Amino acid sequence: MKFAIIGGTHGNEPVGIKVIESLKNNSDHSFRNSFKTFLGNPKAYELGKRYVNSDLNRAFGNDESSLGNEKSRASELQSDIVGKYDFLLDLHTTTSSMGLTVILTHLDEISLKSACYLKKMIPDLKIIVSVRAGKECPYTISMVSSGLTVEVGPVANNVIKAELVIATRKMVDLLLDYDFSEKFDYQTTDCFKTIGIKSLPEGGEWMVHPNIDGHDFMELKNGDPMFINIDGEVLSYEGETIYPLFVNEAAYQENNTAFEFAIKSTLK
Ligand SMILES: [Zn+2]
Repeated sequence: MKFAIIGGTHGNEPVGIKVIESLKNNSDHSFRNSFKTFLGNPKAYELGKRYVNSDLNRAFGNDESSLGNEKSRASELQSDIVGKYDFLLDLHTTTSSMGLTVILTHLDEISLKSACYLKKMIPDLKIIVSVRAGKECPYTISMVSSGLTVEVGPVANNVIKAELVIATRKMVDLLLDYDFSEKFDYQTTDCFKTIGIKSLPEGGEWMVHPNIDGHDFMELKNGDPMFINIDGEVLSYEGETIYPLFVNEAAYQENNTAFEFAIKSTLK
């Protein structure tokens, strides 16, 4: 298998960049699978910003909203990567308390196997399923038909956290040495399927309740507090049990997003 490994799709997430640099510096290490690394968004990295003109991780597929630097960087990456690799790993960090996670966007056998193998080797790892198939998928990961997006946190933007660099590198090493011909019964593997987004209520007075903030993947039941204002007034959640994730993620503030949410499920 030929891997393309991208770090720095977002220029303010240096953990992934540190990992691809470490791979380049250890080129004598031989893995079962071959790989090439790519710095996702060099200009944004130089500036220490998530992006220059528009989010590179929304610049693929049919999405017409990409602009300037990211529009041209997306086409460069496409000509370097599309049709040339079997598996894409896109390395990200989050400011939310997500721990170690991988996001499955494709549900082909190779992607499923890779997520299950990582879960077997790292039991604390969480698998998020967020399917945006084919041309509908605006993410970097859509350039190759199999792959995983890695999200680890919490870490502030532009900060290198050794624990997360080492954990991400471990995931990369495991997959680079993984024998993809191995059989896997993935149907019983636990996952979180994203089903929606909660925005902060209009008016700017509401904040994510402390019971949720910093507690990604904890269940949120009907009647549990969800938002709070400075006077201590609380807005409660109404509905079926959900699991908030990317809680208070810094990059989502510009869209007024409080968190994404998922249901618990198994891969099948
Ligand atoms: Zn990112």
